[in-house]
Amino acid sequence: MWPVRRKDKRDDIIMPKIEINKERCKGCRLCVVYCPKGCIRLEDFINKRGVHPVLFLDKDKKCTGCSFCAIMCPDMCIEVYK
Ligand code: SF4
Ligand code: SF4
Repeated sequence: MWPVRRKDKRDDIIMPKIEINKERCKGCRLCVVYCPKGCIRLEDFINKRGVHPVLFLDKDKKCTGCSFCAIMCPDMCIEVYK
């Protein structure tokens, strides 16, 4: 089952978004490459694994919640909310 959660009455989520486990991320950048909207970039800092994890940056609200990033992540670091 894909790591997608749908909003319910307890959430005030309006636009799709993702959350990234930045300590588990190994910086492989697959999610960066496969995001069709360019919403994922590298962080400036280095995590415990010694790599730059990724950052969700969506100022223009382009994320569609397509889940490509979560599907492609080999370590299941990404959860999609829509
Ligand atoms: S859900 Fe889709 S559009 Fe949103 S960050 Fe992931 S790949 Fe990009
Ligand atoms: S695909 Fe997963 S492990 Fe690779 S950079 Fe993205 S979040 Fe990190």
